[in-house]
Amino acid sequence: MNPTSDVVIIGGGIVGSSIAYQLTTAGCRDVVILERESHQGKGSTGKSMGGVRAQFSTDASIRMSLFSIPFFRDFEANLGHPSGYRSQGYLFMATEARHMNYLRANYEKQVAAGLTTAQVVSTDDIVRMVPQVRGADIIGGTFCSTDGFVDPYSVMTGFTLRAVDQGARVVRDAEVTAILRDERGVSGVESTQGAITTRTVVCASGAWSAQVAKLAGIDLPVEPLRRMLVPTEPFDKISHAAPMTIDMTTGFHFRPEGLGLLMAWNDPEEKSSFNTTFDRAFIEKILTRGVHRFPVLEEAAVNPSRAWAGLYEMTPDHHPILGAIPQVAGFYVATGFSGHGVMHSPATGKIMADLILKGSTDMIDAKLLDHARFAEGRLIEETAVL
Ligand SMILES: Cc1cc2nc3c(=O)[nH]c(=O)nc-3n(C[C@H](O)[C@H](O)[C@H](O)COP(=O)(O)OP(=O)(O)OC[C@H]3O[C@@H](n4cnc5c(N)ncnc54)[C@H](O)[C@@H]3O)c2cc1C
Repeated sequence: MNPTSDVVIIGGGIVGSSIAYQLTTAGCRDVVILERESHQGKGSTGKSMGGVRAQFSTDASIRMSLFSIPFFRDFEANLGHPSGYRSQGYLFMATEARHMNYLRANYEKQVAAGLTTAQVVSTDDIVRMVPQVRGADIIGGTFCSTDGFVDPYSVMTGFTLRAVDQGARVVRDAEVTAILRDERGVSGVESTQGAITTRTVVCASGAWSAQVAKLAGIDLPVEPLRRMLVPTEPFDKISHAAPMTIDMTTGFHFRPEGLGLLMAWNDPEEKSSFNTTFDRAFIEKILTRGVHRFPVLEEAAVNPSRAWAGLYEMTPDHHPILGAIPQVAGFYVATGFSGHGVMHSPATGKIMADLILKGSTDMIDAKLLDHARFAEGRLIEETAVL
């Protein structure tokens, strides 16, 4: 390992690799990613559902999607590697007036931010899009045709390959064990593959970010939360062209994946922990909700050994924490995506490169997502969390 580097990024998931790509694209080529695992993607990135959407409830989240989704669309043309982007849309369905009012209010914010592909839809529209839905109690919803899915592992790989082409280095099996400081701020890191002298360290360590930030003496309000996904065996009773379809009444949602469907549901009983064991009892819970809305799912087979669990990295207001930590000069964080780290990874790479290299960004009001918002009581709640 080289003994010095301009920027050290801790964590080689989709976020760390996007930051490395944008830094090297902007001409900052002496960048090293330290990844503690033997290969990248073993954190949350490789466990993700790969959903990408602009249907959010805050301006900051919507703007990050408005940058990121076209970026995924053009990914292969610009980076020479597939993103797997499929614009099959996200369809939110409401059965209660309060949910419909909420969707309409979000839609207004999305339009105001410049999104042109979202629409409010009727029950008939919904039944046309997903005819297998039990629609009797559905009162409407929203749909955005440019929302959809990507292949997170492929996106991470594309970012990494281009970053390496442009000068970055990736060191695997390199767990960061100390962040060194002197009177000027960050002075280096120690890892299980040796030490590096640097004046700039970026914590992109996903659900483990609070532990990593602690090495710099910083408290980050980022907590791990188990999230489980259940694929069906090959299943063709629902079209593979269907959108990500969300029943707002229960939170059950699914999208087509391979020859079957990938089903998700956020169990409100789940408590913060690093547990990533898949709980087989979850299958009955999720299928109960799924069959309630899509009776045809009764015919879907599920092999529990193909289901998996991973970690969301949650913040109190469900927005990421991005930017410099003023208490430790040269220490930056990009974490706490609360379920949105894949879809917001392109925007995050650009925002972080802007903040590191220029001290400001045009994409969003970066102050909204800074670390100080927690101490100063400036939280901006993102409520559209799945
Ligand atoms: C089941 C599930 C479904 C999801 N669905 C979606 C979705 O549909 N859409 C979406 O946008 N997001 C989704 N997410 C969230 C998304 O996967 C994450 O927000 C995103 O992957 C975060 O990327 P990351 O690079 O920050 O973290 P990670 O991919 O976790 O990468 C962090 C890396 O840091 C490394 N690391 C940690 N500590 C150290 C250390 N001390 N030294 C060196 N390296 C270290 C880890 O090994 C890891 O590789 C989902 C997550 C899960 C679990």
